[in-house]
Amino acid sequence: MREANHFGHARALPKWYWTGETRMNCMREAIGQTLAHGYAHHIQRLMITGMFGLIAGLDPKQVADWYLAIYVDAVEWVELPNVAGMALYADGGRFTTKPYAASGAYVSRMSNYCVRCRYDPSRRSGAGACPVTTLYWYFLDCNERELAAQPRTALMVRNLARLSAAERGAIRRHARSLLADLEAL
Ligand code: SF4
Repeated sequence: MREANHFGHARALPKWYWTGETRMNCMREAIGQTLAHGYAHHIQRLMITGMFGLIAGLDPKQVADWYLAIYVDAVEWVELPNVAGMALYADGGRFTTKPYAASGAYVSRMSNYCVRCRYDPSRRSGAGACPVTTLYWYFLDCNERELAAQPRTALMVRNLARLSAAERGAIRRHARSLLADLEAL
């Protein structure tokens, strides 16, 4: 499982994972709390810091090493299956039935992070667009065929298919610009 990398993700972990110094409020809060206490709730780990690793295409090994280093309750036999298997889907679904990807709209619905963020969770591209939202749609775009074949993710892909070609193009361009400089987020 430590070698698992279903999507072939290889991007380096942004330095702000170790400092919390990012303008994305959800990540700043979840990482800041982690740095202060060595602890975060399971959903913060799965749907904020872990999910960002998935949709930003971060190297699963680097993400797993971060969890192992940063949480007081991290021991590898529990941490690695949760990170590589559940949060990153790096094992290709050996014990989870879908990748846990969601947009900023999900984060907005489930938390109060977005009200204090400089980004807009409802915007997919352009100035002020939420990086989580942009990268979520880009993740669907990049993995459309695989996700369409899974009952639990097929609906997400059908929503993607409803977007115009112009909007999909704008998402791709914006996502690629974000991925080219994750440190700046
Ligand atoms: S707007 Fe996006 S980046 Fe900001 S807190 Fe919400 S989900 Fe996170």
